[in-house]
Amino acid sequence: AEPPAEHAVPQAGDPSLVLLRRVGVVDPASLDDYRAEGGYAALREAVRIGPAGVIREVLESGLVGRGGAAFPTGRKWEATARQLDHPHYLVCNADESEPGTFKDRVVMEGDPYALVEAMTIAAYATGCPKGYLYIRGEYPRAISRMAHAIDVARARGLLGADVMGQGFAFDIEIRRGAGAYICGEETAIFNSIEGFRGEPRSKPPFPVEKGLFGKPTVVNNVETLVNVLPILTGGAAAYAATGTEGSTGTKLFCVSGTVARPGVYELPFGATLRELLDLSGGATGRLRAVLLGGAAGGFVRPDELDVPLTFEGTRAAGTTLGSGVVLVLDDGVDLVRILLRVAEFFRDESCGQCVPCRVGTVRQEEALHRLSRRPTAGDIALLREVGQAMRDASICGLGQTAWNAVESAIDRLGVFSPSEAS
Ligand code: NAD
Ligand code: SF4
Repeated sequence: AEPPAEHAVPQAGDPSLVLLRRVGVVDPASLDDYRAEGGYAALREAVRIGPAGVIREVLESGLVGRGGAAFPTGRKWEATARQLDHPHYLVCNADESEPGTFKDRVVMEGDPYALVEAMTIAAYATGCPKGYLYIRGEYPRAISRMAHAIDVARARGLLGADVMGQGFAFDIEIRRGAGAYICGEETAIFNSIEGFRGEPRSKPPFPVEKGLFGKPTVVNNVETLVNVLPILTGGAAAYAATGTEGSTGTKLFCVSGTVARPGVYELPFGATLRELLDLSGGATGRLRAVLLGGAAGGFVRPDELDVPLTFEGTRAAGTTLGSGVVLVLDDGVDLVRILLRVAEFFRDESCGQCVPCRVGTVRQEEALHRLSRRPTAGDIALLREVGQAMRDASICGLGQTAWNAVESAIDRLGVFSPSEAS
């Protein structure tokens, strides 16, 4: 079920917002509203500086992917643009299935033309005549708002055979996911769009060389793409002045759990977890832990709230920023039940293609069930062995990260230690 809309954007209208500045302010159906609030200035700038100029700006901005992996966006675009094999494709990954992630939904529902414009810029820079917007099927409002925006943009000459009369062609087709978490993995998206089972492919080759239909493909997350708009309108240097050297710009954080004001918050990289919790009203009870980065992430303890919310800062603290999940857990929450839910989720969503993940996620869940009844050193050791095998030998990120949260709870929160065991 979709969370209530009134919890979506606590900061609507706040003048310090960059990515969310139009959300809750403009009528998402109105292209005229979008234009009145600065819409299509970035595409005009893109056309002025040309594809190579756009890629240079994106490289210099330091923008890295916001889907969770933080790969440099400019490097992806540059690598795709130089491929001689044609056509090139653009895929916007709007599958957003990481538990606790709901930021892309807010952008698509509240500012759909921003994504249309950003996809057009990405396509222009990398030479893609066709783009696919792969949206999770559980987002019916986002799908209908994006479909409307695409139709209006096409009717007004902002998509189609001659975009803005500038002599380049680009159009967008929406594809709906059908509920499988694994279809958010970029190569599983290719299989899904091509009509095959949504199973990941081995990488390399990376999509920039051989992606959708075997052709060079840029895959970017929704939030990543909309960052290109302020980069082009304000310039790379101004963009990079916000945040830290390793994490430039602002980030959308998805705050949920036992917290006073859950929702999507936009903050400059480098703000601390404590600042974000203050903004969202803090834990409803006594804080027990915060899970950063989602089911594949790691826990932060109450004594670690000064961790800077950057890719490098969270890595140094033994966790990950991932896609921006901030799941707040107060002391009324049963942590073992949370871990069991995470293990069940991965067991359920494993596509079953490779043995370490197919078998490992089952063994992990079984061991956690036993530990929940009676903690033993043997089952902890088994979890570690299975977790390491999944991390080392799984084909894709699902299996490689399926043990992260469990490991973090054991090592950082002391779950299943004698004092914690029930
Ligand atoms: P990855 O590190 O394998 O790749 C990240 C991106 O960089 C990919 O697009 C990949 O093709 C590209 N890339 C990597 N090396 C490259 C190279 N040498 N040349 C060209 N391109 C290269 O990570 P991934 O498996 O794509 O994603 C894992 C992340 O996804 C995790 O951090 C997880 O948090 C996140 N995730 C997010 C959601 C969500 O809903 N947003 C859901 C599940 C997982
Ligand atoms: Fe499928 Fe898991 Fe292997 Fe990924 S790691 S390909 S989800 S079985």
